[in-house]
Amino acid sequence: MSTAVVVGSGPNGLAGAVALARAGVEVTVLEAAETIGGGTRTSELTPGLLHDHCSATHPMAVGSPFLKTLGLERYGLRWLLPEIDCAHPLDSGDAGVLYRSVRETAAGLGPRDGRLWRRAFEPVAAGFDALAEDVMGPVLRVPRHPLRLARFGLPALLPATAVARALRTGTARALYGGVAAHAFRPLHRPATAAVGLAIIAAGHRYGWPVAEGGSRAITDALAALLDASGGRIETGVRVRSAAELPPADVVLFDLAPGAVADILGDRLPGRVARAYRGFRHGPGAFKVDFAVEGGVPWSSEAARRAGTVHLGGAFEEVAHAERTVHAGRMPERPFVLVGQQYLADPTRSRGDVHPVWTYAHVPHGYDGDATEAIVAQIERFAPGFRERVLDRAVRSTTAFAEYNPNFVGGDIVTGANTALQLVARPRLALDPYRTGVPGMFLCSAATPPGAGAHGMCGAHAAASALRYLGSPGTFGS
Ligand SMILES: Cc1cc2nc3c(=O)[nH]c(=O)nc-3n(C[C@H](O)[C@H](O)[C@H](O)COP(=O)(O)OP(=O)(O)OC[C@H]3O[C@@H](n4cnc5c(N)ncnc54)[C@H](O)[C@@H]3O)c2cc1C
Repeated sequence: MSTAVVVGSGPNGLAGAVALARAGVEVTVLEAAETIGGGTRTSELTPGLLHDHCSATHPMAVGSPFLKTLGLERYGLRWLLPEIDCAHPLDSGDAGVLYRSVRETAAGLGPRDGRLWRRAFEPVAAGFDALAEDVMGPVLRVPRHPLRLARFGLPALLPATAVARALRTGTARALYGGVAAHAFRPLHRPATAAVGLAIIAAGHRYGWPVAEGGSRAITDALAALLDASGGRIETGVRVRSAAELPPADVVLFDLAPGAVADILGDRLPGRVARAYRGFRHGPGAFKVDFAVEGGVPWSSEAARRAGTVHLGGAFEEVAHAERTVHAGRMPERPFVLVGQQYLADPTRSRGDVHPVWTYAHVPHGYDGDATEAIVAQIERFAPGFRERVLDRAVRSTTAFAEYNPNFVGGDIVTGANTALQLVARPRLALDPYRTGVPGMFLCSAATPPGAGAHGMCGAHAAASALRYLGSPGTFGS
């Protein structure tokens, strides 16, 4: 029987471990922290309330071509949808509102922008499952659905500002811009349209669900399936060098490329070491989790019913904030994401006290305190919020990097989404999961298709490892 070690138990590490174990490989996962899950952990950051430490909303996980094959609901994973996926309130009192339904979303954007929205998203949402097979994997390969991919891929290569220019209403522009800002890039840069288009398309296909009981349910389910498949997990084991790795036929690293370069040292071919050390990380996140009595008193009715609320005002203001952060300066009014997972999943609240998840985009390694900037952005669209806050838990960029070394400088997407790194992630190679050391593979969000709790990086890395072992792959080979 072949053996494998997986370093790191984020969604990609565990997805890779499950794919290997189901192909008959004996798998051991080594996790540095005391709890598994990486960017999917959930716990009582404030007493009695369930807060997601990192990821919250999962259009890409529910639509993941790999996770869908696993039947994770048998291991306790249950997706819950809010009434409204996302609201983007404006100072005027209007809001851009994203529903699962393309029609309902379009109806709120005025006749012209509504028509454009439908033309852009109806076909993509209808064909999302086929599209996901091509976009949620390595870019340099023969696409399975070339026409569908071209239809999505050509607009995706544009800057987000170009897509926004096609829209006329402030609400449509802001709604699109807020989702595009998930790319953590200045919105005038090439290919910044891609991330926004993909997340909106996934949302129109599946909605923006949360996991019942918190995002940890995703990796808890993967861990239970791994256990049922004969794999095992050791927590509290930080791997610092290749010498610390137990003997195994293959190793998957659910780590940032720089960390793999440190661990493998001289064993890594020079060109790969240079690429890993030169891998670029993006801006940081500054997170505040609040315990809020009665929830956030949004002026916008839609925001009160939305699982996610984007705060940053008009498209131009969001674009300015993203440019400023990228230039290494803290904007006065940063782009802020607010998660109200409890609306879909009331098990997270304690009576009328609710967990409210927020983070601001801040410069890479930002060492200031962005709490007040976050509170001010919420107050701007929800006067009276401050008085309702009973408790808070704060995590700065440096605290993020300590919490999980994959979040270098607070970069929670493990690698800047530059046009080059969208294609060549972490380096230009037909098989980007291979490290160049025989039997050693990278499987983290630093590989295609990038950030998210979808497990696709792990599934593709496992397929690559199975090819190396000469085994028939379970997925993607
Ligand atoms: C604030 C925030 C909000 C987010 N929001 C969303 C969202 O709403 N939706 C979404 O899909 N995604 C979101 N993400 C991104 C998502 O969480 C990540 O992209 C995802 O977790 C990446 O998974 P991974 O398996 O590649 O790595 P990670 O989840 O980062 O896991 C890596 C694991 O490796 C462990 N590790 C690191 N070094 C070592 C070592 N040397 N030895 C052993 N173990 C080690 C870490 O402790 C960690 O458990 C968010 C992230 C953050 C932080």
